[in-house]
Amino acid sequence: MKITDHIKNAKGKTLFSFEIIPPQKGTSIQKLYDNIDPLMEYKPPFIDVTTSREEHIYIKKEGGLLEQKITRMRPGTVGICASLMHKYKTDPVPHVLCGGFTKEETEYVLVDCHYLGIDNVMALRGDAMKDEAYFNPQKEGNKYASDLVGQISNLNKGNYLHEIIETTYNSNFCIGVAGYPEKHMESPSMESDLRKLKEKVDAGADYVVTQMFFDNQKYFNFINAAKEIGINVPIIPGVKPIAIRRHLNILPQVFNLNLPDVLVNEIEKCKDNKEIRQVGIEWAITQSKELQKAGVPVIHYYSMGKSDNIKAIASKVF
Ligand code: FAD
Repeated sequence: MKITDHIKNAKGKTLFSFEIIPPQKGTSIQKLYDNIDPLMEYKPPFIDVTTSREEHIYIKKEGGLLEQKITRMRPGTVGICASLMHKYKTDPVPHVLCGGFTKEETEYVLVDCHYLGIDNVMALRGDAMKDEAYFNPQKEGNKYASDLVGQISNLNKGNYLHEIIETTYNSNFCIGVAGYPEKHMESPSMESDLRKLKEKVDAGADYVVTQMFFDNQKYFNFINAAKEIGINVPIIPGVKPIAIRRHLNILPQVFNLNLPDVLVNEIEKCKDNKEIRQVGIEWAITQSKELQKAGVPVIHYYSMGKSDNIKAIASKVF
């Protein structure tokens, strides 16, 4: 079922959902299930499955030489989606990226999703590769998420890339895109970033999921500003509990966000990561309860591969 239909059917009740990251290749999928199992009692109507950018790896050769190769360390997004549908009877949402994919390869991913009966896809540009300063689109690939949304919308109308197929067997994907309550890191201004978000919606996006934020006011300001420029699709807040001391520096740096001073002070007082995890849980519970009271359609949690803290939050909120 489409995310937008799940939201309609919930009739104002806030839904619970979360995002998972495919395991590194060579790791058993059981580890993933062990983290998902405890969250299923909160009935997530959908679960997002991320797609990772490819990365450079270096292989030692005789004579001390290093051979550079490109690989995707966490493949399997579509396969995991199929297994989630089968095992949990929930709607999986594969993340589809511009970065590292030609448009042709993207079409193949979408065709696989259509055959599997996947109704939703999240269209994202992707970040720069780890050792690159800026995002470089793939040759023959999509440059911005709005271009990718355009490609998916075209496919929904039966328009394949080489334009010679006449079909009534169209996909009908519900398309999600990313939004940034504190602005995307590369964007020159909040207003410019919002205009680019509107371009994604105008190209066919049906809903938005936000980057994580730790101050709900940032989200409320964002949805108001989005409405003012004519963005009328659901905007789902993304919430992540802080779990380790390093998050204090990494999250602002990687995700271009501010941490409220009260939260920073609480974390700085903690003796170890166990105490920090608890502070993170309590902060996310308070955030979630306020969002729920404000009537948000869904609260989407970034699980980052571990679910005990998400379960602790869900047990108090849903
Ligand atoms: P875009 O919407 O293309 O925007 C990128 C930048 O370009 C912005 O600064 C925007 O303002 C600007 N821009 C957009 N259109 C134009 C234009 N026409 N001209 C000039 N500038 C423009 N990354 C992954 O690698 N895998 C994932 O699975 C993944 N999942 C995510 C899920 C969510 C909910 C979120 C919020 C992010 C996710 N990301 C993921 C990270 C995302 O790929 C990065 O934040 C990336 O840097 C931007 O992606 P986007 O889709 O927002 O890009």
